[in-house]
Amino acid sequence: MPLSTEVLVEKETIEFPEQCVVCGRHAGGDHVPMRANPHGINGMVPWLFGRAKVLEFSAHRDCGSRLRRVVLARNLLILFMVTGIIVVGFVYEWNTWLILAAVIVGALVPTIWQTLRPVPFEFVHMGNNTYKLMFRNRDYAREVADLNDGILEDDDREEEEDDVDRLRREMRESVNEGPPERS
Ligand SMILES: [Zn+2]
Repeated sequence: MPLSTEVLVEKETIEFPEQCVVCGRHAGGDHVPMRANPHGINGMVPWLFGRAKVLEFSAHRDCGSRLRRVVLARNLLILFMVTGIIVVGFVYEWNTWLILAAVIVGALVPTIWQTLRPVPFEFVHMGNNTYKLMFRNRDYAREVADLNDGILEDDDREEEEDDVDRLRREMRESVNEGPPERS
């Protein structure tokens, strides 16, 4: 399922594996800077004025700038949708609550779309040195979490429990079989 994997990291600079986050091949030491996504509707203002946090991620120059363009276009789409709804709401004299509800729904549509069709990498700056990093590739996300003592998102636990259960069952089965009989 193409859902993105989140890694929560509390660190000043984030280390990335040598591989390009976009194409997965060795990035040859290249790094590309990326601005943090706006954190909620409030985060739009610092984001617009270029005040958002910047992280450097491992990627080839071409891969990295393509990724940046996609993320920028998506963020601008959210901004235009929200602004559009507010303008239309004022022009047609909607009730304030109706405008607010429309803004929230408008801002959610691209986010939901992004959840179902995630970009290779993007991140949100949660304040201080806390980052929520989002990866399309789960293995890459796990590597970043390991490199930075980060926390891999919860839904991974289910998978691990399944593995533990399988291991337990296998152990039980091997015990039940007992030692090979001597002839
Ligand atoms: Zn690449």
